[in-house]
Amino acid sequence: MPLPDHLTLTIVTPDHAVVRREVDEVKAPGSEGSFGVLPGHTPFLASLQAGELWYRCGQDISHVAVSFGFAEVLPDSVTILADVAEPAETIDIHRAESARERARSRLDLPEPNLDFGRARVALRKSLVRLEVAKLAKSKA
Ligand code: ATP
Repeated sequence: MPLPDHLTLTIVTPDHAVVRREVDEVKAPGSEGSFGVLPGHTPFLASLQAGELWYRCGQDISHVAVSFGFAEVLPDSVTILADVAEPAETIDIHRAESARERARSRLDLPEPNLDFGRARVALRKSLVRLEVAKLAKSKA
């Protein structure tokens, strides 16, 4: 069977569809490390961690901050079901900076009932958002 020319990338969250388009390459933040996909890839399923996802259409690379969920890879498609997914240009930098500072101060001066896991996840998500927003700015 001939190799597919493109991948259909779909990114959805529980409340909306974020991306659906034909792309040439995808890199996603798997929980065991990030993985790249080109057309014709062997099928697999992976869980995701909070991190940067990018996809390429020709020479054009787009960045998306994703947090948790799953990826299904097939030879001609990549489907991402993420808890949250934000294209770089939609990220509110001030909001992410506030979330980062809130999480840092919780972790620096922990109260007795602090949920450390939750604070660490909040910190990680805010750092990913800031990193992804920075990548988009440096491209513009
Ligand atoms: P915050 O503490 O600022 O609410 P959070 O990490 O708790 O951040 P989430 O629960 O992950 O927020 O997300 C709630 C909704 O808000 C999601 O739809 C998410 O995409 C959106 N969101 C959160 N932070 C940002 C941001 N900095 N820019 C754009 N959208 C954001």
